[in-house]
Amino acid sequence: MSSERPGAHGQLFIVSAPSGAGKTTLIERLVEQMPQLRMSRSYTSRTARSGETDGVDYNFVSRARFEEMIAAGDFLEWADVFGNLYGTCASDIEALLADGSDVVLVIDVQGARQVRHLRPGATTVFVMPPSYEVLEQRLRGRSKDSEAAIAKRLQVARDEVASFTEYDFIVVNDELTAAVDRLRSIVQADRCRLSCMRADAERIVRTF
Ligand code: 5GP
Repeated sequence: MSSERPGAHGQLFIVSAPSGAGKTTLIERLVEQMPQLRMSRSYTSRTARSGETDGVDYNFVSRARFEEMIAAGDFLEWADVFGNLYGTCASDIEALLADGSDVVLVIDVQGARQVRHLRPGATTVFVMPPSYEVLEQRLRGRSKDSEAAIAKRLQVARDEVASFTEYDFIVVNDELTAAVDRLRSIVQADRCRLSCMRADAERIVRTF
């Protein structure tokens, strides 16, 4: 895909949220509205849920293949989430960024810590549900998961929300359209940073 900003290197965004906070829908809406923003496709060792497609929702691979990729150093970050392995392929991300696309990684707090360390220029966003009760309702409402699985997700969510201070921005997903607007503002503001705008600004300065 060709860049809309020739020669520009894209910006990396990280979005984390507890399971059930609605981040997938949020990010899908965001990338629909911002064509230059691309969502990274993670690798996972978990099996596809009904309705999920390999190469679209995730790259679904066996645990053995995932472990080979870890050993080969293929991942920018990876983590064990709910007993399954998830990871971001470093070369996929580099290719998108080099093309000038901005890239959003939707990853858990463990993965976010690894990327923050390796790429301190990344912009990080934590999406929160408006309350524990709302998260619980969403998890019970949407899923056919067992009571034990829901309880585990809620427990993990408790630990994850406590990590919010590690992030640059917080978006409360109280209402979908408003939350997408806030995320879009974050991306737009980020694109106005001196580090992104220096070449354009220098070109303007040369016209004076
Ligand atoms: P799910 O199985 O519900 O699609 O995702 C479970 C969790 O894994 C979510 O919190 C999601 O953000 C996280 N996740 C998805 N892809 C990655 C990834 O590439 N790396 C990390 N660290 N977490 C991921």
